[in-house]
Amino acid sequence: MTEVAPFPDELRDWAAGLREQFPIITANPGSAYLDSAATAQKPRAVLDAATRYLTGENANAGRGTYTWANRTTARIDQARDRVRGFLADPDPARSGVDFVSGTTEGLRAVALDWLPGWLRDGDEIIVPYADHSANLVPWLDAVAVLARQGVRVTVHALPYDAAHDYDYARLATLITSRTRFIAATHVHHVYGGDMNVHRMRAAAGPDVVICLDAAQGAGHLPLSVTELDVDFVVFSGHKAMALPGTGVVWSRNRRGPRFAPGGWSGTPNTAGIVSLVAALDWLDAAGTDRIARWTVALAARLTDGLRGLDPYEMLGCQTSLAADSPVQQRHGIVTLRHRDIGSNDLGFILAGEGLMVRSDDHCQSPQGERTTSVRVSLHVYNTVDEVDRLLAVLTGLSSY
Ligand code: PLP
Repeated sequence: MTEVAPFPDELRDWAAGLREQFPIITANPGSAYLDSAATAQKPRAVLDAATRYLTGENANAGRGTYTWANRTTARIDQARDRVRGFLADPDPARSGVDFVSGTTEGLRAVALDWLPGWLRDGDEIIVPYADHSANLVPWLDAVAVLARQGVRVTVHALPYDAAHDYDYARLATLITSRTRFIAATHVHHVYGGDMNVHRMRAAAGPDVVICLDAAQGAGHLPLSVTELDVDFVVFSGHKAMALPGTGVVWSRNRRGPRFAPGGWSGTPNTAGIVSLVAALDWLDAAGTDRIARWTVALAARLTDGLRGLDPYEMLGCQTSLAADSPVQQRHGIVTLRHRDIGSNDLGFILAGEGLMVRSDDHCQSPQGERTTSVRVSLHVYNTVDEVDRLLAVLTGLSSY
């Protein structure tokens, strides 16, 4: 029996107040934005911070001797500390924060600028074959680069269990004295599950470097590197309510060589980084623990409503979708298919009803889903009414 937790009604006023802070949402009352896993909407505080910076003291960083330039340089340094604070970094003097364009570029930088210096001939790595391609392709590229240099690295697939969580028991059996690196994901971008990476270190042992793709976790639930003994955290600012083109690589720098992305990086995305600081301030003030309770509860409402509707198939964990599940929680992402309506068609039908969802293959790696699906992804600005509206349209299509 699946437990159904009571809806957290005490959060309704709080979420409604936050929703008012999103100009694009309040300007479009007839539409429901249900695609936050692709990119999140921005609260007024973030937009204002970027505008204030661009209209007040926009300059390049690390160049120039005048006030605007010096202040921009200082802002970027302060932004590094802000990221450390957001991640509850226990050792800020040692860690690194590098700004990149997003998760894809950040994971590539770890793969191509850092990993080859850590791996030796005969080493093994474990990477996820059913997560986002951005968290698979770079690791395979790095192994190919090393192979051309005569360094052979064995790649194992990170195992999953039936609920689409990582299979930590099987993972432990894959670890050998040559295992040096594991790439994992915080929240799955298709199945929506918290991948329970707090269990990763115990399975991996003390010396393995763990790199976390937090693209769907940052801003959605608490993300503490004090609690998660991982070595890299990579996320995209635009999915965490900052402007596009801003991403973060946080590096613990305790295992292996220090992370130092190669090459001349040129002008940083100064306005984007300013917006990221404002976004992290906003998220911390709202409270990522409360945001998580809200989106988990909305997703549970959606899955509870869909469960009885015959033509729909929900992807991912089927047995523990409710908000208080001790097993696995969906952080605001519910992906589905209709038995008779193609996912692209379903996406168009929903768009016609003002319901903005994503329908395609969601950039999943080769062990992922074979056919397209419709992904509904929620954030703190979504409402119970929006979920019920979606459910009403889906119910109307159930006897199609
Ligand atoms: N990793 C995951 C889990 C994602 O969901 C995404 C984007 O959807 C990415 C990586 C890539 O993020 P970006 O396109 O911002 O680089």
